[in-house]
Amino acid sequence: MNNSIFSFPTPANEPVKGYLAGSPERAAIEAELKRQRKIVVEIPLIIGGKEVKTGNLGNVVEPHNHKHILAKYHKASEKEVKMAVDAAMAAHKQWAETPWRTRAAILLKAADLIAGKYRALINASCMLGQSKNMYQAEIDSACELIDFLRYNAAFASEIYSVQPKSAPGQLNSMEYRPLEGFILAVTPFNFTSIASNLNMTPVLMGNTTVWKPSTTSLLSNYYLMKVFMEAGLPAGVVNFVPGPGSVIGKVALASPDLGGIHFTGSSSTFYGLWKTVGMNIDKYKTFPRLVGETGGKDFIFVHNSADPEAVANAAFCGAFEYAGQKCSAASRMYCPKSLWPKVLKGLKERCAKVKVGDVMNPENFVNAVIDEASFDTISKAITYAKRSKDAEVVIGGQFDKSVGYFIQPTVIVAKTPKFRTMEEELFGPVLTVYVYEDKNLEKTLDLCDTTSPYGLTGSVFGQDRLACDYICNRLRYSAGNFYINDKPTGAVVGLQPFGGSRASGTNDKAGSAFNLMRWVTSRAIKETLVSPLTWKYTYMK
Ligand code: NAD
Repeated sequence: MNNSIFSFPTPANEPVKGYLAGSPERAAIEAELKRQRKIVVEIPLIIGGKEVKTGNLGNVVEPHNHKHILAKYHKASEKEVKMAVDAAMAAHKQWAETPWRTRAAILLKAADLIAGKYRALINASCMLGQSKNMYQAEIDSACELIDFLRYNAAFASEIYSVQPKSAPGQLNSMEYRPLEGFILAVTPFNFTSIASNLNMTPVLMGNTTVWKPSTTSLLSNYYLMKVFMEAGLPAGVVNFVPGPGSVIGKVALASPDLGGIHFTGSSSTFYGLWKTVGMNIDKYKTFPRLVGETGGKDFIFVHNSADPEAVANAAFCGAFEYAGQKCSAASRMYCPKSLWPKVLKGLKERCAKVKVGDVMNPENFVNAVIDEASFDTISKAITYAKRSKDAEVVIGGQFDKSVGYFIQPTVIVAKTPKFRTMEEELFGPVLTVYVYEDKNLEKTLDLCDTTSPYGLTGSVFGQDRLACDYICNRLRYSAGNFYINDKPTGAVVGLQPFGGSRASGTNDKAGSAFNLMRWVTSRAIKETLVSPLTWKYTYMK
């Protein structure tokens, strides 16, 4: 095995299961949901492969039924964060020297475990803990998570195979070393697949991590950690540390051994982490790699040649699937006046049929937003729009947190193009539309480009293909993932590498080899076959 040149081929994407009534996957998920609702899981920290219980407990609740406690988790204090950093550093050498084929084998085993015997477990925990319906859980905690693990083995093969040529009398090579230090993986609530990927991408390339999971996705994240261990991940390679971000960030970022941060979450949190790293920069042994995918104010730009039904459908799915809590969710739309009545009609028809509620009822298309803080922010923004003379709430606008954090799909028409909800990320099922005069295409393109600080996803709709090209070019920096005649959500690993720039992050494209490159620091090695013995230039002889 040691002398084989191994290369993992590009895999197929994990097929999305249909969950039709009567199918085996439907029976399995329903049984698992029932089982998980009957128990209260105790979630410890996992440091150096050992469970650590601090006794300082917090609750994990169902967002759609917030009185229901799913788990109690132990919170880290500064002491445990230091332990986690030490454990990651202790595991670093052996893991870095483990053949990369073996590292990949562990990731591929984790993928197979989740694709098979743990699919229902991880999907049910994601449904209950993060309020996703079956389909949204399946595309996240099963398919995308598996795709990241499998594709990364193929991306690593690509990177390791890039070698310089050797001139006569010498041998040249590139060694793709893991970073010198540990990686702090800070993961968001909204995708279990991202929680996995922010750890396992650096890990595949030979790094070790301190994992700060989001407090509102702990149930699925804890099961994930257990799957990694069952797949053979050695002790200390990933250290699972739930607890307050401020404590974990403070201790981890103060360590001279910080090699990098792999972050996904809001722009404000990432700005804070970056500033702290900046303040400490001369204390680190190396310049830490900072990779962050952050917020968005993702748009749909409609050209007046568009099919209004296709626009209405994309706006509906893009804005309201997973209650608008995808970083890529459509949250502002620019629609020409000539098409708006038909687009609005299409949106109204869909919203009249949509059901909002508990994940246990498969008829509910929209479930709860993640927690009370999020509910309060979104509901306040809707109330603000209702009271403002510069906006009109044309669909939805209702919210209720008595049982779960439910917000009805809401469409606001902004009468001024820089109305608050056209600019700020809301992270809920709220779409704001600015209706423009058809003749003002150019002006409206400028507005779309400059209204928000973000640059994550966006789409253009139009049947005039040349107009779509023109708009695509005009909006070159407004989105890192751009769609033509499609909703701005739903990027698939290996097919649409994901990430945005401006205030949306460092654009290191998760789901591609570009991201893996950030977790290695290469060393060029030259060997001279016969060392020269003379120092004189030829002309001096
Ligand atoms: P968040 O910023 O509130 O939290 C992200 C993580 O940071 C959590 O684990 C949180 O506990 C942690 N954290 C908070 N303060 C910290 C600190 N001082 N030190 C260390 N860690 C700290 O984001 P969220 O609510 O979990 O996720 C929603 C956000 O994520 C949205 O803005 C969304 O757009 C963004 N997001 C972006 C992408 C992308 O690819 N661009 C993908 C998913 C989510």
